[in-house]
Amino acid sequence: MNLNLTVQQIFSWTIQLSAQQDYQALTHKFLDILAEIPWIDSAAAYEIYNHERKNPGETGTVHELLIRRFPLDFTRNDEEDHNPLIAEIDHTVDLHLSTPNEAGLYAWAIFSIRGGSGPERAIHLEGAFNQDMLELLSRLRDIYRNLVILHDTKERDVLTKLPNRQSLDARLLQVCEHYSDYQVINKSEEKSSWIAILDIDHFKRVNDNFGHLYGDEVLLTFSQLMGKCFRYNDFLFRFGGEEFVVILNLASQETAIATFNRFREAVANYNFPTVGRVTVSIGLTHVDGISMPTTQLDNADKALYHAKDSGRNRVVLYEDMPVLTQDNTPNEIELF
Ligand code: GH3
Ligand code: MG
Ligand code: MG
Repeated sequence: MNLNLTVQQIFSWTIQLSAQQDYQALTHKFLDILAEIPWIDSAAAYEIYNHERKNPGETGTVHELLIRRFPLDFTRNDEEDHNPLIAEIDHTVDLHLSTPNEAGLYAWAIFSIRGGSGPERAIHLEGAFNQDMLELLSRLRDIYRNLVILHDTKERDVLTKLPNRQSLDARLLQVCEHYSDYQVINKSEEKSSWIAILDIDHFKRVNDNFGHLYGDEVLLTFSQLMGKCFRYNDFLFRFGGEEFVVILNLASQETAIATFNRFREAVANYNFPTVGRVTVSIGLTHVDGISMPTTQLDNADKALYHAKDSGRNRVVLYEDMPVLTQDNTPNEIELF
């Protein structure tokens, strides 16, 4: 294979990839490395959620797709940039290629990334590739995939497969840092980010009445409802126990409250197998660039406490709470 790449180059890439601390950093680094290769014109990574493929001969199937594109920019609505092929291809196939030109070169390639506990993933490359190049790209993909699997184990919750609390800390810091550079002047009008804690009401009763296994089933279904209600550029997490966190991006205050109310209603109206009806209380606050991430979570938790205290199955915005309550609500965050 003569691709004008030195052994040092390959080692350097491998070291850089294995040095990344989380999945997002890994993916961005991988895309940077691919972009360095002269015969690659563009590289993008995708996560595909709720992927349902059309079975041949079947009509009327509803396809609910949520595609997240990397490099990730939560401040942009780049749904239009998605490559339509990503939604259509069979992700159980390792490699999809364009038809080769007369010289035997392929103009695009889509590599599937399978095996992690996260969503389906794919890397889309454009350029001019021969068989040797594809062979090298397959090996690079294998290294990337193995690291993705490791990161999934560390960053995702075993039951719901959602990113866990550790991932939340990194992501919230990233969102806060963005807003410390870009101040939101009018949060009712401007689109910005919101952080919410979602806590299932009287969940202990579910366990007590139906057993832990059914409790787990509710948690799993709840996380799936979250996946359906929120968008590709929102970040979802399992915070711990029956508590979940959403960082909602690109939303005005009105949209944020409406979105969380829509989710609250979706849960209240859902018929959970065996368990029946379950409700959720939600406390949210605006993400600003001034307060510490821990303070913002603390404020969302105070709003949640208020939602519980005022009857449950409701959404409370921290900024709407009376100032006295904002200061005096006992801090319910469990530190250990
Ligand atoms: P509230 O409306 O005030 O939130 O009441 P609650 O019963 O939901 O809250 P509480 O904090 O008293 O109880 C939470 C319960 O969640 C207790 C615990 O057994 C259960 N729980 C935590 N993690 C898991 C889990 O992974 N699986 C199951 N089945 N239950 C869990
Ligand atoms: Mg709780
Ligand atoms: Mg609860």
